[in-house]
Amino acid sequence: MIVMKIYKNTTKENNKSMKEYTTDVLIVGAGPVGLFANYQAGFLGMKTIVVDALDEIGGQLSALYPYKYIYDIPGFTKILAKDLVSNLYEQASQFNKEYLLKRHITNLVSNEDGSYSVHSSLNDVIHCKAIVLAAGAGAFGPNVPPIEGIESYHNKSVFYFVKNPDDFKDKTIVIAGGGDSAVDWAIGLSSVAKKIYVIHRRNQFRAAQSTVDQMYDLAKTGNIELVIPYQLDRLIGNNGMLESVVVKTLSGEEKIIEANCLLPLFGLSRSLGALEKWGFTINKMHSSIDVSPNTLETKLKGIYAVGDVASYEHKIKLITVGFAESASAVHMAWKYVFPNKVFHFVHSTSSKE
Ligand SMILES: Cc1cc2nc3c(=O)[nH]c(=O)nc-3n(C[C@H](O)[C@H](O)[C@H](O)COP(=O)(O)OP(=O)(O)OC[C@H]3O[C@@H](n4cnc5c(N)ncnc54)[C@H](O)[C@@H]3O)c2cc1C
Repeated sequence: MIVMKIYKNTTKENNKSMKEYTTDVLIVGAGPVGLFANYQAGFLGMKTIVVDALDEIGGQLSALYPYKYIYDIPGFTKILAKDLVSNLYEQASQFNKEYLLKRHITNLVSNEDGSYSVHSSLNDVIHCKAIVLAAGAGAFGPNVPPIEGIESYHNKSVFYFVKNPDDFKDKTIVIAGGGDSAVDWAIGLSSVAKKIYVIHRRNQFRAAQSTVDQMYDLAKTGNIELVIPYQLDRLIGNNGMLESVVVKTLSGEEKIIEANCLLPLFGLSRSLGALEKWGFTINKMHSSIDVSPNTLETKLKGIYAVGDVASYEHKIKLITVGFAESASAVHMAWKYVFPNKVFHFVHSTSSKE
């Protein structure tokens, strides 16, 4: 079980008063790359605070695919995304475990001595000497379909993420969408759900062909029914509990599907948000920040970017690439934090002897 020092400044009381923190390195983003940067910073003897907009650590791994195996983490033939997050958290916790969750980083103030003061959406001010941005593709949220009144069903019977497949045990589920998430979860939930209807506005799915084939096989023999080409029209239910989902073809032909849950899986809206205004060179196409590939430093001194948010020529967005970037960036950050000290490189194997 993950036990950490988390400050959830969510009460109105707390929102009013400003809370100040002081640390060596502020890490923005508690995805896998931010968590590994947290370990590296602690290993080099720096204090950290990690801030994330979500209510849990793990970034995309926790929010999008906690129960998927990852096959390309060195040393693990396969590892569940959620287990990788727990391991990374535990590894970093040897040194630092201060996490400020459920808040966005907003403004940046550059101080005369080269340090920074960073503000959050919950009125925190974090004074730090260096910053590591591990913000992925920015704070992300689901694309909500334009259906009247859908908000009243949110997190009761309409869900945008699957945290635990067992939450859907014996339910009749409508999954809407034609991409990887929709197809993956149709397959993933078919073993626990009573029945799954997959709604897609086209006849073709945009997911990996092998998983589309698997879904079609399950549709022949199992509990998946494809409702194509249809799109969501309206919801029928009471007090946030869904009773039926009404779907329509483009020509207006209507079907009413009795269901307990709806999973609209239309991808994520991503935005760098306030980070766009900090003065970085932004790669608009990839929603990322240009860095020097050698130092991972952005245009602003003492501010580094790692993982999906960092861009340079030939960048590959993989977790392992982000890990390597974290190690490099944090070593650079150490030199910025301690300009008058001499750096002695130490392998982790030698650190505890
Ligand atoms: C379905 C799927 C399968 C994948 N499979 C693999 C795989 O097999 N192997 C692989 O290597 N990669 C895989 N990836 C990609 C991998 O998940 C990403 O490369 C990885 O998550 C990037 O990690 P990160 O820490 O850079 O960013 P993220 O995981 O995106 O985390 C960034 C965090 O920063 C937070 N944040 C952003 N902006 C702010 C802000 N202003 N204030 C506060 N918090 C902020 C976000 O809330 C988020 O939690 C997969 C991705 C998906 C969607």
